[in-house]
Amino acid sequence: MAFTIKMARAAVEKFNAVIEEKKEYLTDLDSAIGDADHGINMNRGMKRIIDKIQGKDYADFGGLFRDVAMTIMSVVGGSAGPLYGTFFMKLGQKLAGQGEVSVEEFAAAMGDGLSGVMSLGKSAVGDKTMVDAIDPAINALKEHAPEGDAAAWDAAVAAAEGGMKGTIPMLARRGRSSYLGERSIGHQDPGATSSYYLVSCLRDAFAEG
Ligand code: ADP
Ligand code: MG
Repeated sequence: MAFTIKMARAAVEKFNAVIEEKKEYLTDLDSAIGDADHGINMNRGMKRIIDKIQGKDYADFGGLFRDVAMTIMSVVGGSAGPLYGTFFMKLGQKLAGQGEVSVEEFAAAMGDGLSGVMSLGKSAVGDKTMVDAIDPAINALKEHAPEGDAAAWDAAVAAAEGGMKGTIPMLARRGRSSYLGERSIGHQDPGATSSYYLVSCLRDAFAEG
């Protein structure tokens, strides 16, 4: 089964709801190794995105993800705004003109989004950031695609969760948490956590069809 524009829209709506539900938790995570604003930042951005997309009819991923990107970039301050904004912008550019793609094509577009994040953030896998949740999810999607789309999405969620938890023992090398040096060890990265939620929401939207 393909990944459709309807699923993408549902995933964005689910992401808003999950961020709303988890905003205090995300802010708690950010208070340990950052400035306690990740949940608030993301919540503000996602709410504005829902306002923006409501009542609009999107024929292709390009239009939807462009609106998501522009809104998150303009509303969400700090690092997460430009980073998530770039992710959604590149995702939309790669899928422009299409309203239905295979799981492999969606994974490739997420790969473009991730490359955008990594070049803007000068970050790599293992730096204790959102990259550590998104990168394994993309790899799992690609690796498990031959088993079918549902299996691939489930594997992606498990991989993102593993990546998120894998940030706990890491030493932060990018972003605000890197200022803590060794003291960043032992805490889960807030951005990797919100990125895990994003992958879960994509999977849930796919599963609901
Ligand atoms: P800020 O750090 O400006 O307060 P947020 O708290 O909203 O912004 O987001 C912090 C998250 O952003 C981190 O947990 C991390 O996952 C992600 N992040 C920060 N800097 C980078 C970077 N250079 N590359 C990739 N991700 C980053
Ligand atoms: Mg912060």
